[in-house]
Amino acid sequence: MLKFVGTGQTYPDKREPKLRAEDFQEIADRYAPEKAAEQAARCSQCGVPYCSTHCPLHNHIPDWLRLTAEGRVREAYEMSNLTSTMPEICGRICPQDRLCEGNCVIEFSGHGAVTIGAVEKYITDTAWEEGWVEPLVPGKSRGQSVGIIGAGPAGLTAGEYLRVAGYDVHIYDRHDRAGGLLTYGIPGFKLEKDVIMRRVQRLKDGGIQFHENFEVGKDATLEELRTKHDAILIATGVYKAREIKMPGVGAPGVEEALDFLTASNRKSFGDDVPDFDNGRYNAQGKDVVVIGGGDTAMDCVRTSVRQGAKSVKCLYRRDRANMPGSQNEVKNAEEEGVEFVWLSAPKAVEGTDHVTAVKATKMRLGAPDASGRRAPEVQPDSEFTLEADLVIKALGFDAEELPSLFDCPDLSVTRWGTLRVDHKSMMTNLDGVFAAGDIVRGASLVVWGIRDGRDVTEHMHKYLREKARAEKQAA
Ligand code: FAD
Ligand code: SF4
Ligand code: SF4
Repeated sequence: MLKFVGTGQTYPDKREPKLRAEDFQEIADRYAPEKAAEQAARCSQCGVPYCSTHCPLHNHIPDWLRLTAEGRVREAYEMSNLTSTMPEICGRICPQDRLCEGNCVIEFSGHGAVTIGAVEKYITDTAWEEGWVEPLVPGKSRGQSVGIIGAGPAGLTAGEYLRVAGYDVHIYDRHDRAGGLLTYGIPGFKLEKDVIMRRVQRLKDGGIQFHENFEVGKDATLEELRTKHDAILIATGVYKAREIKMPGVGAPGVEEALDFLTASNRKSFGDDVPDFDNGRYNAQGKDVVVIGGGDTAMDCVRTSVRQGAKSVKCLYRRDRANMPGSQNEVKNAEEEGVEFVWLSAPKAVEGTDHVTAVKATKMRLGAPDASGRRAPEVQPDSEFTLEADLVIKALGFDAEELPSLFDCPDLSVTRWGTLRVDHKSMMTNLDGVFAAGDIVRGASLVVWGIRDGRDVTEHMHKYLREKARAEKQAA
């Protein structure tokens, strides 16, 4: 260990931009065993590991790095599995530069952070290949059932832990496949689909009952599910796309980011997607303008490149340093040929039968707003036009109106529409109805969904034990 002075930081090689733009496979290779051991050995085994403090799961990072450095990969996997239901997924898609790696002391000493995410991915991918990932073994049956609405990272994580604790677990999802945004939001070049599907299959094999194509609000009300189950978890994520008001925004060819990404992900599964085949969600041969600067926008520009767009531009009203998306993703996108038009905001969409261009103005950063970020303001007389035959709106997501969607006006929400929970119990204002993930936090990260799924399990378990005890006493 402590090899960070003599051994430089090395991430796994990325495929050549030209090659990776031809398909939807992940862009980074995996470490060879010697390389993983070498990179793990750079960790200085800090007494107070800031990497772990800043990992939402508080993963035992120095421990599994040490085990990897010693070639004890199976033990490293077991250690990593103690705190996470999907370490290989976090290793791929966490914004490590803002979390574990961004807080590694070696980064601060100028030696370059330990490559924690890449090692984490290596450990659990190896575990899958070697057959060390054990089947999910349900705990002794407690005779109580739980209904989980939403099969994203939060719902799947809670489902796994609750099943291990001995509950009958039913997961309802309006999509035909589980995984939430892991499946239909995040593209394969960041997270290949079989990586998610093998996790879902493991849960199915462990006896969790998935009710796919089941939309709560349409196929059942919340109240109906409450009568079926002893407790409910709402983990429905946030899906109301933020709107942009400007002339022409309703023109054909102006599309929502998630519709575009879902169509592309469905194609990766080999599904029939008429709106892709008729060109609506297909960027091939088009001048594409994506509006926004977050992770969703990055996924849209890079998907457009892979679909064979003629040109891809990302229009963002702040500058590179002030964008919400990951800097690594911007770098990847630039390598793949995306052009970033910083400090620019759309003003109007041109074209009547179909979009032909986006009119935009240059922006400059003014004084910091209430959140501390410098607010963009319009630069006078700075209009310009970008040709476009596909415009993708990627401005972020808010919560849907769950009380009306679920036909449950009593369900309490915050002023942002997210579910209001008691933070000590993670329960909503309805007895036995808990909530976790983006629907509580607002749009966030996969790793926070997993953390919430883990935390809510404890609270649900406590509630269900008390309920069983009370029912026994009453009988
Ligand atoms: P979700 O993953 O949204 O899952 C919610 C599930 O609930 C969905 O399957 C949905 O179909 C289901 N559902 C909703 N309503 C109903 C209903 N009425 N009835 C039945 N089912 C319902 N995070 C990262 O950490 N790294 C990234 O690289 C990253 N990239 C992203 C890219 C995109 C395009 C987007 C949109 C988000 C990205 N995120 C990323 C954020 C991350 O995906 C989310 O924070 C995370 O998935 C939230 O998990 P969740 O379980 O709360 O909800
Ligand atoms: Fe880092 Fe995410 Fe893994 Fe935590 S879960 S160690 S933040 S990559
Ligand atoms: Fe190792 Fe960096 Fe974590 Fe310290 S902060 S324990 S050096 S990974």
